Amino acid sequence: MTAPTFPMHVSVDDARTHLTALLPARTAETVPLAQAYGRTLAADVPALVSHPSATESALDGIAAREADTLGASADAPARLRVIGESRAGAAFGGTVGAGECVRIYTGAPLPAGADAICPVEQLTDDGPDGVLLRRPASPADVRVEGGDFRAGEVVLHAGQHLTAPRLALAAALGHAQLSVQRRLRVALLSTGDEVVPPGQPLTAGQVYDSNSVGLHAMLLEAGCEVLPLGHAPDSPKALQAAIDAAGGADVLLTSGGVSMGKYDFMRDLLVEQGRVSFWKVRMRPGGPAILGGWNGLPVFGLPGNPVSSLVVFHVIVRPALTGQPPQTLRLRAATPFRALPDKTAFWRGVVDGGQVRDYGQQGSGILRSLSDAGALVIVPEGQAVQAGDDVDVILL
Ligand code: AMP
Ligand code: MG
Repeated sequence: MTAPTFPMHVSVDDARTHLTALLPARTAETVPLAQAYGRTLAADVPALVSHPSATESALDGIAAREADTLGASADAPARLRVIGESRAGAAFGGTVGAGECVRIYTGAPLPAGADAICPVEQLTDDGPDGVLLRRPASPADVRVEGGDFRAGEVVLHAGQHLTAPRLALAAALGHAQLSVQRRLRVALLSTGDEVVPPGQPLTAGQVYDSNSVGLHAMLLEAGCEVLPLGHAPDSPKALQAAIDAAGGADVLLTSGGVSMGKYDFMRDLLVEQGRVSFWKVRMRPGGPAILGGWNGLPVFGLPGNPVSSLVVFHVIVRPALTGQPPQTLRLRAATPFRALPDKTAFWRGVVDGGQVRDYGQQGSGILRSLSDAGALVIVPEGQAVQAGDDVDVILL
């Protein structure tokens, strides 16, 4: 190999920036709510209505005038006359006067004249039209019209990832469809002579293709459309044919074959015949990652080790695909975490009781850590973490 003409040993941030630069500008499309899960909002979303749409009760009980009930207690209950009922969807038409109340249910409109609620647990019936209150009715149990959001207010924002709670909110805002970014089409290819699809017999020296499965799921979770290309052996010809089959994709994600080995042909193809944006990232695990282009198609080469490919996906690829930086949490370290002099370390950690501890086996070939360690502890270059320090953690 001749001297490289591309950046090597880039930072995690720079790797993310390089990938973002190769992705196409996102156009928008309008989709029904049922198809919007996991997508990214292309426009701000205003409330079309207010919530609550009317001032209403937060509880089952009675609605009354607070002043009539002050001082009510178990020993000296207040007595009110029941003059009607307000149900969710069927308001009481009259007005609550002095000494009066209406039975009311959660989400039912507060009748005119009433300003407070006493919950049913604090009530005893008293004759055919009376009720005794063991505590005062409270204005705190009245939900004011627009107290959650008001019509016209922008509640969701362009660029936000549509989680289940945000989709529910969009429906409550009055939208049946949303403007979202077009899905990125991501082609996915595993490489390696020893890699075998799950379900087939395995001989010594072979390994099941876990990367295709894990990466496919993570791409769906990131709101992408996936073009599964299966698996290619370690041969330049076969790799070239597989890459050519990725036509129509916005980006090709490969795993394996990008390290220093003689049979790491993915690296050779990009370096010798493609266009390389960078090779190697100052991180562990995941250092050998490469970004390049092949006939105008951006190609991101993840390392083959399943732990490495998961970590690189989480800290570089997913943020570039979604436009969202990795969500970090600050937690107390229950154990020390080792620093590396020239790399950011993403050690697998176990979150327990509000703290995070070292998972123990940190080799990138320890596949069970994919399930057992729920977190990546970020240890910046050269900055060791002591037990008791606060650390940034990515939850997996
Ligand atoms: P490589 O990056 O090709 O040198 O592979 C590094 C390690 O990851 C080797 O032990 C491979 O057997 C393993 N590996 C590569 N691809 C996969 C895959 N798709 N699924 C599981 N393990 C893999
Ligand atoms: Mg390989």
